Amino acid sequence: MLTERVQRFDLNAGCELRFAANNYSDISLELINGYAEIFGTELIANQKYVFPAKFRVAVFSWTGGTIKIIGGTESAYISSESTAMVVYLNIHATLEKLRKDREASGKDFGVTQRGPRIMLVGPTDVGKTTVSRILCNYAVRKGGTPILVDLDVGQNNISVPGTIGAMLVQKTADVVDGFERNMPLVLNFGHTSPGENLPLYETLLKGLASTMNSQIEENPAAKLGGMIINTCGWVDECGYTCILKSAAAFEVDVVVVIDHERLYNVLRRDLPDFVTVTHVPKSGGVEQRPRHIRKIARKENVHRYFYGTSSSQLYPFTFDIAFDAVKLCKIGAEPVSVLIFNYSTPVNKLPDSCLPFGMEVEDHRTKVVVLEPSPEIKNHLFAFSRSSNVDANVLTSSVWGFCVVTEIDMEKRSLTILCPQNSIPSNILVYSVVTHLDDQLRR
Ligand code: ADP
Ligand code: MG
Repeated sequence: MLTERVQRFDLNAGCELRFAANNYSDISLELINGYAEIFGTELIANQKYVFPAKFRVAVFSWTGGTIKIIGGTESAYISSESTAMVVYLNIHATLEKLRKDREASGKDFGVTQRGPRIMLVGPTDVGKTTVSRILCNYAVRKGGTPILVDLDVGQNNISVPGTIGAMLVQKTADVVDGFERNMPLVLNFGHTSPGENLPLYETLLKGLASTMNSQIEENPAAKLGGMIINTCGWVDECGYTCILKSAAAFEVDVVVVIDHERLYNVLRRDLPDFVTVTHVPKSGGVEQRPRHIRKIARKENVHRYFYGTSSSQLYPFTFDIAFDAVKLCKIGAEPVSVLIFNYSTPVNKLPDSCLPFGMEVEDHRTKVVVLEPSPEIKNHLFAFSRSSNVDANVLTSSVWGFCVVTEIDMEKRSLTILCPQNSIPSNILVYSVVTHLDDQLRR
């Protein structure tokens, strides 16, 4: 019988144990005594937390504690550089004060004021997602119910890649599985980078913000909890414009720039004065993830959407649907090629001067167009739209969920889909460029 490797780590106050489970097997982690947390979720003493192979973990202690690990780890070390966690705790304290102040001033007028809205920005791999998780966890531990907004269409933590979404956080994140994806509001963008369709991305930002603004009017605790907004790591050129547009759409109070001084300076210049912009360091533990690792993370995210995680498995269904039973569509028409005057190059858009006075050019990139079933849609994700027709409402309608087209039979005129439930919640299916090869494995 193989003896499993047992390691014990004594963490001093303000220290962090960082490691990754090795490539081949799970590891189990236990807090033996003292206090420790993982990305803001407090560990329960003597409970075994099982992490899958390759999982990256950081166990931080404010007051000191002892950790036992059973199983193989890679590069396990204790860091005493606690500055980043102290900075994140200070941000939390500032948000908490704003919540209290707004609660008190609202009471004076018999209304509920909006809680603070904070947006985390910075390049890829600086810890934006992790900090948003820490801030949500700390808010929940103080009895709050913040809204987590994820605008990252590449590595989304609320739904599948290619989406933006928001959800109310009522429980701290599970240390292994993250936040419970509880009835999130999800919009389908259909691409993994905002740059693939900027006008659509902007339309979705505004749509999500306005839906959330009306939903919180029905839920005073959520309204007061505020929003913690995670963004993608594209900070140059149009990525920068996306940051400004996101800040405006969500009417943020605070923008936290992680590890990018130039971005901090230009945001200070370009954001209105009432927005507080702060610059914070990244944690020394944050991992650089090359492109292919990010691609794998996206695949795992889709897999998780259909099959769940090892501790909470899901059982999706595979069934056929006739072409006639669904309406497929996609957002973004092919550019209109028009020859204008003597120019021989086709242009995507008619110049306004060519149109009758007062008429605007419709942007083909936000046009909802019917998609005829074809073998090309095999393995693509499709969103079940809440819109009742294939029209402009599809753009900003939230989605019921997603399916993957696993087979297409042009002769029988039917599709086979992998779907979380045994019937389709809507017959309007919206295309996503995101693909998934269903391996039917439960991990
Ligand atoms: P971003 O959202 O900016 O791309 P993430 O928050 O996803 O960055 O962090 C990148 C990776 O680094 C993730 O795998 C995350 O789990 C890991 N990570 C974050 N903070 C720490 C830390 N303090 N110690 C070890 N790993 C960390
Ligand atoms: Mg991220």
